Amino acid sequence: MNIILASAEVAPFAKRGGLGDIAQFLPTDWEKFGQNSIVILPKYRDINVDFYGFKPTYRILYVPLGNWTEFAHLWEGRLPDTNVPVYLVENDDYFNRNGIYGDPDEYPDNDRRFIFFSRSVFETAKSLNFKPDIIHSHDFHTAFTMAFLKSHYRYDPLFNQTAGVYTIHNLAYQGWFDPDRAMFFSTFGIKEFYPGCWFEHYGKVNAMKTGIMFADKITTVSPTYANEIRSGYYSEGLQDVLNLRGADLIGVLNGVLYTEWNPSIDLYINHKYDLNSLEKKKLNKLEFLREHKVEDYDNPELPLVGMISRLTEQKGLDLLIDKLEYYLDNNIFRFVLLGSGEARYTDYFKYIQWKYPGKALIHLGYNTSLSHQIIAASDYLILPSRFEPCGMTQMFALRYGTIPVVRQTGGLADTVFEYIPATGNGNGFTFWHYNSDDFAYAMRRALSIYQQEPHWTIIRKNAMSCDYSSSRSALEYLKVFTWALEKVR
Ligand code: ADP
Repeated sequence: MNIILASAEVAPFAKRGGLGDIAQFLPTDWEKFGQNSIVILPKYRDINVDFYGFKPTYRILYVPLGNWTEFAHLWEGRLPDTNVPVYLVENDDYFNRNGIYGDPDEYPDNDRRFIFFSRSVFETAKSLNFKPDIIHSHDFHTAFTMAFLKSHYRYDPLFNQTAGVYTIHNLAYQGWFDPDRAMFFSTFGIKEFYPGCWFEHYGKVNAMKTGIMFADKITTVSPTYANEIRSGYYSEGLQDVLNLRGADLIGVLNGVLYTEWNPSIDLYINHKYDLNSLEKKKLNKLEFLREHKVEDYDNPELPLVGMISRLTEQKGLDLLIDKLEYYLDNNIFRFVLLGSGEARYTDYFKYIQWKYPGKALIHLGYNTSLSHQIIAASDYLILPSRFEPCGMTQMFALRYGTIPVVRQTGGLADTVFEYIPATGNGNGFTFWHYNSDDFAYAMRRALSIYQQEPHWTIIRKNAMSCDYSSSRSALEYLKVFTWALEKVR
């Protein structure tokens, strides 16, 4: 199959969350299954083109936008350790800026930037004479590709046999655009915008709705989230749209590329280990604490609890905030956080760092190597999320024998199962009600087996034996692609 994967994030080049991981993992696995995919993403200023070996192709794209044509250059590289081509669309007006979306506030012209990018996906394929069977787009940024496929490029010989598959990674970010701007830039024209049309939601252009309505098949990143979003609490206002397309909405659990996230070969950690050398895991913890100048770093009694997360309300930070000082005051565990996000949370964690030196190790910012080191060093990883479409870090943690404590929602409910001491089954600790006492109770159960044999070894081995590999999800996507093709051919 010829597949175009278009995404605003692709790891390791440009990543802010799980979207970037998946956009890297899937094509890597598709290649192993003999599929012919290309990846397209914007050439952001922060992408280190020299380091990743990108070269200019000297191809020029002519991208219709509004009532004029924009130009873009195309760069070419490869996904790490593969032959999968990655194309960067270069246009300085749109992408020669800091970050991806604008930090902390989104860039005000994100509508225009991503409509431009979505349109350039087709112009890239034309320039390369690449005839896709599937265009696979992700989240609101590339949602307009689904609309372009069914309208502007519908009779183009390159795309008239192409099916569109749209993947929702997080419904919380829908892309609410001003209709005058979005309908103009996308060259649909404002006449195509009217109440109840496929672009419209509460008087705005809603990019997420647009993607959902125009796609042949819609997927989201876990089976539980696919069910949850059909009802009001989780749907972020889109339940009607999602139910309308319910027959085409499929949950495909995200997976992990175990060549990237594997404690026996991880380049970012010094003490490699696997299921049969679990005792070496704690060397990573000792080294981590020593490097952070923690005085009693070799105190084995204190567990290390980690969290790696965007700092937003979604991630259940208020539950943690409600209890964290109690845990630290009472020496119940050490806490390490790696995260970036909203100021109300970064301010809070700065305060915690100041109040509990040596007990709370706070890293504000984005740091890939540190994320690997924290997962290897921690005894537990927490995700008390209010909602979690899939969540990647709990799957990484499992492979590293780091025990997840999670709220039972979305992909967390599909990957983490309560450990039952009586049977020795389970790989973590879970709670359901979104309140801090239930979170604390799950923490208590989790901490009660810390270094308590045989449970401590059993649960960690259970965790490390879980197989959430991206190959499985890559294969499932290929099935979805076949179903999508049945709709257009
Ligand atoms: P989301 O996509 O909602 O942010 P996921 O758990 O699906 O959450 O994916 C988060 C991804 O981003 C993981 O790969 C995680 O390791 C990574 N990540 C999140 N915050 C940071 C950070 N501050 N530094 C490095 N990696 C991070």
